[in-house]
Amino acid sequence: MRWEAPVLLDGVADTRPRIERTAVTRVHGGLTCYEVRARTALERVGAGWSVSPYRGCAHACRHCAVRRGHRRLGFGCGGDFDSRIVVRTDIARRLRVELASRWDGGPVVVGVGGDCYQEAEGVYRLMPGVVAALGEAGASFTVRTRSTLILRDAGALADAGASVTVAIAFVDERVRRTVEPGAPAAQRRLEVVAELGGRGVACGVAMAPVLPLVTDSPDQLAATVRRVARAGAVGLVPDVLRLPPGAREWYMAWLGEHHPGLVGRYAGLYGAGSVADPGYVRRVVEEVRGLAARYGLSPVWPPPAGPAGPAGAQLALL
Ligand code: SF4
Repeated sequence: MRWEAPVLLDGVADTRPRIERTAVTRVHGGLTCYEVRARTALERVGAGWSVSPYRGCAHACRHCAVRRGHRRLGFGCGGDFDSRIVVRTDIARRLRVELASRWDGGPVVVGVGGDCYQEAEGVYRLMPGVVAALGEAGASFTVRTRSTLILRDAGALADAGASVTVAIAFVDERVRRTVEPGAPAAQRRLEVVAELGGRGVACGVAMAPVLPLVTDSPDQLAATVRRVARAGAVGLVPDVLRLPPGAREWYMAWLGEHHPGLVGRYAGLYGAGSVADPGYVRRVVEEVRGLAARYGLSPVWPPPAGPAGPAGAQLALL
């Protein structure tokens, strides 16, 4: 670990992003971590809530749809998102306050602005506090991840009644190495699914994102669903690649480098928008759902929320 000394800029206009000027900065491996206090812990997402201990993600998925959020912090959506990680060091304390004051009992998703079990979590250990706070509040919550580090907290997740959603979009390791270069191999994520299930944590898979023309052949879809089912997942939900601003530029640069012949076909599929042609999306989703049904995987994941709040907490203890 290396400590950064504060930069003194007497009389010089400081043009760095505000977060860079105010955060404590530490370097872990190749990552720069910006330690900040969380202004809010719970964020509204539709009818539910999300909690993100980290912004930015060292898994560096080229398709990551939340890259744009880094711009609001004054950083870029590409390499900055992958290597400049904002760490909300007091997230558990802030979460407890908000669960008691502004939470309405709605379901909670953990790990939206960046993977909550990415490399930095090995240093900061924020998730045990987050899981405990949600469990004690009786929240219905799911933790999203691509990381094997989640196994560290399997016992706490089981005690808190959490579900886990492991993202496994495809099992082709050649594709994974370039498009999700910082994430563990699909095989290791399948082992996470199996182990969590064996330790009493309900675990499903988000087959997300299916990459059009790259990982969407019938054989590729069938191989992925088959291995997810063999790993013991309870449910599986597919999602087709979305390309909002931020993700679009970064993903298309990858596509141009690794599959230059597909760039024109993507223009036909996405036009100037963020989502693929609806007919294409429907076809892929129906195909995956059909495969999932054949293996007995639930098409609903995470599981529907049970009673939330203190009553739910008591039920979870029974
Ligand atoms: S693991 Fe999730 S949050 Fe992290 S880069 Fe990949 S898609 Fe984005």
